[in-house]
Amino acid sequence: MGSGQVTDWQGKNVTVAGLGVSGIPAAKVLHGLGAKVTVVNDGDDARARAQAAGLEALGIAVRLGDGDTLPEGTELIVTAPGWKPDKPLFAAAQEAGVPVWGDVELAWRLRGPDAAPWLAVTGTNGKTTTVQMLASILAAAGLRTAAVGNIGVSLLDAVLGEDQYDVLAVELSSYQLHWAPSLRAHSAAVLNLAPDHLDWHGSMEAYAADKGHIYDGNRVACVYNVADKATEDMVREADVEEGCRAIGFTLGTPAPSQLGIVEGILVDRAFVEDRHKNAQELAEVSDVNPPAPHNVANALAAAALARAYGVPPKAVRDGLRAFTPDAHRIAHVADVDGVAYVDDSKATNTHAAEASLAAYESIVWIAGGLAKGAVFEELVAKSAKRLRAAVLMGADRGLIREALARHAPEVPVVDLDRTDTGAMLAAVQEARRLAVAGDTVLLAPACASMDMFANYNQRGDAFAEAVRELGAGA
Ligand code: ADP
Repeated sequence: MGSGQVTDWQGKNVTVAGLGVSGIPAAKVLHGLGAKVTVVNDGDDARARAQAAGLEALGIAVRLGDGDTLPEGTELIVTAPGWKPDKPLFAAAQEAGVPVWGDVELAWRLRGPDAAPWLAVTGTNGKTTTVQMLASILAAAGLRTAAVGNIGVSLLDAVLGEDQYDVLAVELSSYQLHWAPSLRAHSAAVLNLAPDHLDWHGSMEAYAADKGHIYDGNRVACVYNVADKATEDMVREADVEEGCRAIGFTLGTPAPSQLGIVEGILVDRAFVEDRHKNAQELAEVSDVNPPAPHNVANALAAAALARAYGVPPKAVRDGLRAFTPDAHRIAHVADVDGVAYVDDSKATNTHAAEASLAAYESIVWIAGGLAKGAVFEELVAKSAKRLRAAVLMGADRGLIREALARHAPEVPVVDLDRTDTGAMLAAVQEARRLAVAGDTVLLAPACASMDMFANYNQRGDAFAEAVRELGAGA
C-alpha cells in the first residue's frame, strides 16, 4: 500500500484487529469507504457479541474468539494500538507481506490533501497536560485547533469530521507510534523517557526507538528535554527534513536554540532573531498552572512547539493563563489547619511521583497500590529529604516500605496494612496527624490503583472526599 494517501478503498480486503475504542470506528470508516472489512477479536464475551452484532448489521464481518488467524485474502491489517507486536497475527501478516497500520497511521493516511499539520507530543509522563497547554496556546493565537489522539478525541474524527482545523495538537503513546510507520509531524516533542510498558515493547531500546520515531520527518523542530539525554539522543538518531532544528527545553538558563527560565520568566532563545544575543520573554512561571517544576517543563515544551509553528509570544502567555489541568494532576483540594492537601492520583508510576514530590518542600506522602514491577529505590532516595512522613496502603506497599527503610530510615512510616476502599479515609487521617502547618499532604501513589479502586479518578475522588470530611470535622 506504499507510504502515501490511499484514495481507492473500493473492494480492498482489510482486517481490523480488536473491537474497541479504535477498532469500531476504524471498521465503520473503512466500510464506508467501500473496503471489505473483517474485524477479528480475541474475546468472545457478551459485550463483544453486542458490539459485533452492531457491526454485522452494517454488513461488516466479525470473528470473535480468534484474534490470531489472518483472514484469507487480507491486504491490510488495521490494529488497535495496544495489540502486542509479538502476537501470532502479526507474524502471519509479515509472512504474507501484509502491512500493519495502527489507528494513528490510518488517520494519517486518510487526511485530505489540505489537511492541518500535526504538532505531536509523546513521553512517559506529561503528555496530556502538554498537549492541552499547546492547544490552549494555539487557540489563544486565533488558530482553529484541538487536542487529539491518545486523549479522548480520536484522530479519525479530527481528520474526517466536519470541523476544519488549522493545526492539531496530537498526543501519541508509544504503542501508537510503533504502529505509525509513515507519520510525519510538522514538529514534535519527547518530554522524557523512563522505563514503562517494557513488557509490551520487549526492551528499553525498543521502547525508546518507538518513541523516537515521532521525530522522523519533522520539518521545523524536534523539541527535546535538555535534562533527559535519552530524548536528545533520539533527535540525533531521527531522520528529519532538511533544515529542521533541534530545540531544547530546560528549567535552567537557556543556551541558544533552547527555551528555558531566567529569573522566574519563561524565555525563548530559539525562535528569535540573532539567538546568540537575543531572548524573547514568553510568560512568567506564575502563569503556569500549577507552577510545579515538571509542569513548567511541560509548558516550555508546549511553548516550543507553538513557537515552531509561528505563534507570537503573547499567545503563549495567554494560552498558559487560560489553561487548567485535568482532575487528579497535582490538584489542590483544600487547606486544613495550614496544611495543603494535593491530589496527584494520576502519578501512577515512579517517574511521575518523583516529579510530583520534587514540587514541595515538606511532605506527608500517601503512596502505594499496584507496583506493576516498579522499583522504588531511586524515587525514595531522591525524595527522602522532603519527606516528613509516609502513609502506605495497597497491595504492593511493602516494596515502598522496604525502600523507605533502606534510604530514608529516619522518616516515620505508617503502614495501613489495608487494601479496602475505606483505607483512603484512614490514610488521610493519619497524614493529618503527622503533618505540621506549612506541610503538604500529597497523594502521589507511584502505583496503579486497580487493587483498591476502579481507576485513578476514583482514587483521587476518595482522597478529596476524605479531606472534605477532615475539614468538616475540624
Ligand atoms: P500522561 O498523559 O503522559 O499520562 P499527564 O499529563 O496526564 O501525562 O500527567 C500524568 C502524571 O505525570 C501527573 O499527574 C504528574 O504526576 C506526572 N507528570 C506530569 N508531567 C510530568 C513531567 N514533565 N515529568 C514527570 N512527571 C510528570
